[in-house]
Amino acid sequence: MSKRVAILTSGGDAPGMNACLRAAIIKCKCEGYELLGYKHGYNGLLEQEFISLSFDTTHNLIQQGGTILHSARCKSFKTDAGAKQAANNLRKAKIDTLVVIGGDGSFKGAAHLSQFWDGQIIGIPGTIDNDIAGTDATIGYYTAIDTAMSSIDKVRDTADAFERIFLVEVMGRHAGFLALNAAIASAADYVIVPEFFKTTDDELNKIVKQIKARREQQGALSFIIVVAENVWPEGLLGLSNALHNKGIDDVRPVTLGHVQRGGSPVSQDRLLATTLGEFAISLVGTNHTNIMVGEVNQRPVIVPLEETWKHAKPLNDAQICAMKSLMNERY
Ligand code: ADP
Repeated sequence: MSKRVAILTSGGDAPGMNACLRAAIIKCKCEGYELLGYKHGYNGLLEQEFISLSFDTTHNLIQQGGTILHSARCKSFKTDAGAKQAANNLRKAKIDTLVVIGGDGSFKGAAHLSQFWDGQIIGIPGTIDNDIAGTDATIGYYTAIDTAMSSIDKVRDTADAFERIFLVEVMGRHAGFLALNAAIASAADYVIVPEFFKTTDDELNKIVKQIKARREQQGALSFIIVVAENVWPEGLLGLSNALHNKGIDDVRPVTLGHVQRGGSPVSQDRLLATTLGEFAISLVGTNHTNIMVGEVNQRPVIVPLEETWKHAKPLNDAQICAMKSLMNERY
């Protein structure tokens, strides 16, 4: 049966969102569904700002970073009045299914909307943070690891040349996936992530102990500390000052910032985005609603939306062990 499907990208943008749009467009064409794209996240829903996503749109799309629908944050969508307006607009546009590509905030928004709209809602996890439970990875996560890793490789070159200490802040809000993986992949010397951060004193003592022990053994050397954003009070400057107070100077802070969101998606993100985009549209017209599609052990899964944010997703145990033994047990 013919369906009208709408799709949008919301919240923090992530490489691979376009690849996901492409897969959805192609699947909709195969199924004979009409596909509309709301622009600027939930703002587009409130403003009834949409475009038709035809097959032509897919040309040269898979490799493009960002999102052709643009993304945004939308305060008024959080209110009941905003959600009701969005619901009215979806009814006016005769939409059967809304697909939301975004992070946990966007999923909370979708769940809120479902109180006022009885159409079908499907979420697709798109965030560089990988902080969504129910799926092994989120679209954009792998590319962000690569970007952070290659930036840290470059930092290492200059750190080695001057035998300096570098603090590198990576994104990740409340989860250490990106920091931990970037640290392991770039052979960083230390990582600070929210999941195993105890106190500033505890971390400082460990860092200072390591730097001093290494310098005693090997003389002057570089030392790279990867720091997840929002973990250290007062950020990199606070950590830099704390090290200074412990007699460690020559510390340089680097914040990678928004470069981590950009760039052409790596193959893993293109593959995940394509699989999830196709799978989401294959569920159109079924009884599955208020759900996210994800991937676990390389198989597509369907997860109730609230399960995606109810419990914090744990870091990979083997990775934690690997990083901890590198940080604490060598010296
Ligand atoms: P992300 O989806 O990347 O986590 P945000 O947290 O910024 O990004 O959320 C994106 C948008 O989702 C917000 O601008 C808002 O419109 C909506 N949203 C976020 N949290 C909620 C909530 N608790 N209730 C309703 N809508 C929300």
